[in-house]
Amino acid sequence: MSRIYNFSAGPSTLPVEALEEVAGQLVDYQKSGMSLVEMSHRGKQYDAVHNETIQLLREVLQVPEGYHVLLLQGGATLQFGMVPMAFLKPGMSADYIMTGSWAKKAAEDARVVGAVTVPWDGKSCSYARIPSQQELSLNADAAYVHICSNETIGGIQWQTMPDTGSIPLVCDMSSDILSRPLAWEKIGMAYAGAQKNLAPAGMALVIMSEHMASAARTDLPAYLRYDLHIKENSLYNTPPTFVVWMTQLTLKWIKKIGGMAEIERRRDEKAGMLYSAIDNSSGYYRCPVDPASRSAMNVVWRLPSEELENQFLKQAQAEGLSGLKGHRSVGGCRASIYNAMPVEGVKTLTDFMRNFMQKNG
Ligand SMILES: *Cc1c(COP(=O)(O)O)cnc(C)c1O
Repeated sequence: MSRIYNFSAGPSTLPVEALEEVAGQLVDYQKSGMSLVEMSHRGKQYDAVHNETIQLLREVLQVPEGYHVLLLQGGATLQFGMVPMAFLKPGMSADYIMTGSWAKKAAEDARVVGAVTVPWDGKSCSYARIPSQQELSLNADAAYVHICSNETIGGIQWQTMPDTGSIPLVCDMSSDILSRPLAWEKIGMAYAGAQKNLAPAGMALVIMSEHMASAARTDLPAYLRYDLHIKENSLYNTPPTFVVWMTQLTLKWIKKIGGMAEIERRRDEKAGMLYSAIDNSSGYYRCPVDPASRSAMNVVWRLPSEELENQFLKQAQAEGLSGLKGHRSVGGCRASIYNAMPVEGVKTLTDFMRNFMQKNG
């Protein structure tokens, strides 16, 4: 087996242990004579996987009592629409804090449904930083405040959750879920597409306080109703059984390596290595974001010219360092260093960066 280092932003690298477990069990699940992905989602075996996944999410993320954990389809993008449909009722307005591409996409969908207010927009600073608490002039009557905790494309991350007082905070955590413990007392709802830090594509994790859930509209088509998904334990319709299974295996892997404490240790080691390779390059590599807002999941940088960037990406690929091209909307380079990226992968990348600079500096 020769796996390369995959720095792609999503779908992205997964724990080898989880992939191997699936490979070994895919055809004949626990001697049942069939695959888990061929079984009824109403059967005992799938039910055990489903419930253990939810229980593991509660445990690893320390989700308090009174919060619902949902496994839905449609990715984070369906949540862009489901959130305003459920909570942005006629006559109300919602606050969207504009930190970059993903925050904007969420707001665009909300505008289809109702009124959106933007308490802070990072446009004037090219979305290079996260606002401070003092800069947020929130609308006291907002239905909710929406943020994107980690801008996957821009490479900025909220270091702490903002305080929104009695207004529920809704947070798109697609690219940093499971990378740090969460301040649940500040969070009304968190959601995340699966394909960055959890599993393959095809699912959205939604965690919602009972307080928020009780305010969700129920006069909507079935799939858009949070109350139905809560009542049916995310089994209102056929769940994405394969993705749920792989989420379970990822969570077991996290527990096995030492839980969130170890995830955080590795995260800081990896991000530290990469940012110091950039900072210690005498300006050859340049991270365009404010140091205090740097993402620990998606590290972005530029080289002195686009020509050098293209060379860099080509040579990196040839050395088994894949997926380092920045998003097409911003260019440059980006390394997504999610939980499953080994420390060794980032070490190989930073060695490559130093070598490249020596030869082409
Ligand atoms: C990838 C991503 C999305 C989109 O997720 P889908 O699952 O493709 O809908 C939304 N928000 C953020 C922050 C992302 O990184």
